[in-house]
This record gives sequence, C-alpha cells and structure tokens, in this order.
Amino acid sequence: MIKQPKCKICRRAGEKLFLKGERCFTPKCALVKRPFPPGQRAKRRRGGLSEYGRELREKQKIKNSYLLSEKEFRNYVKALLDTKTKIVEDVPSAFVKSVETRLDNIVFRLGFANSRGEARQMVSHGHFSVNNRKTTIPSRQIKISDKITIRKESREKPIFKDIEEKLKKTKIPTWLSMDKKTLEGEIKRYPKIDDVQLLGELSSVFEHYSR
Ligand code: SF4
Repeated sequence: MIKQPKCKICRRAGEKLFLKGERCFTPKCALVKRPFPPGQRAKRRRGGLSEYGRELREKQKIKNSYLLSEKEFRNYVKALLDTKTKIVEDVPSAFVKSVETRLDNIVFRLGFANSRGEARQMVSHGHFSVNNRKTTIPSRQIKISDKITIRKESREKPIFKDIEEKLKKTKIPTWLSMDKKTLEGEIKRYPKIDDVQLLGELSSVFEHYSR
C-alpha cells in the first residue's frame, strides 16, 4: 500500500488517477486547482524524458492507480514475465486479471466503495465476506463464482446507510454481476485487457521490468 497523499500522486504523474472517488470529477480536484507537480510554484516543463524515465512514469501511473506498493506491483508483473515457471499467452490480459480480481478492486468495481482506497479500508476493517466468511485481506484473489457481500454485522454501519441507492446507480463492468436484492456480487468471467482502461501504457511496464 502506498502511503503518500493521493492527490500528490496524481500531481506528480501529471494525470488524474481517480484515487478519491467523486471528488475527482469535481472542480475540487487538486489537479484542476494546482496542475503542476507538488513542491513547485511554477509549472514545470515536461518532456525530454529518457526512455527509462518514460517507462518508469507509465509504470507509476498504473501502479498508483491500483494503490499498489512497488513490491506488490513487481510481483504481479514478474510472475507473468517469468517464462521459466509458466507460459502465459495473453500477458496483458493476465496482468489485468491479477490486479482486477483483488478483493479491494472488486469491492470498488461493484460500487460498495467510492474509490479503491476506501474499498481497501473497508475490507481491512472486516466489513466484507467472501463465500460467507469474513476476510480482511485486500489483496485476496477472487475467483469466478466467489460471493462477495457486506457482512451482516456491518450492514447497519453508517458507511452503508445509503448502499442500496448507491448500488442502483452503479454501472458495474460486464465481467461482474451483482444481485441487488441480496447485495451479493461475483465474477462472471475473468476480465481481459479490453475490459479495462489502464491509466498507463502496459507495454512500457513490461519493457521496464524486462531490463
Ligand atoms: Fe487525483 Fe482525484 Fe485528487 Fe484529482 S481529486 S488529484 S483525480 S486523487
């Protein structure tokens, strides 16, 4: 988990990474108010990056948009690039599957949380169950047909006060499904590269870790 303030991460990347839920779509977004890197009063000129610098920047955008630590992110990528252990045919889709099927991301995608950060906190605080068993591990990989829902003990908490209304308005990805009566979500099929819009260039990430 990365610990820096979320808006600073976007300002450093020079792009919106949508880490704060609804606020990201309003004029209150820090990148709208201060569209320059943190710690600088004047707008810094971008460009002139080396190939290595460019790859690093793309990697940071994807890593930070999923709020992953360097170690977590590297492990996902290296596991796919390590051809000694297995051969993965569609590496980009396999990468997307690794990051998108994390429990914190699924909780966010299903609309239980406004951002991945909020989803991670909710999972860590034990508000969700997987197949009726409490889990507090945000990185847990969810499989097809696993049932994700808010635990009975947490349903009355203020954070879930308007959850039915919120879920009605949520447009969930086609690879997920949600029973809006039982509030149980699941993966229908694993996501592929075309199902998500990554915020950085994935090919640069693989080049970066293949050096
Ligand atoms: Fe990034 Fe959202 Fe903060 Fe804007 S409001 S800088 S998109 S985290």
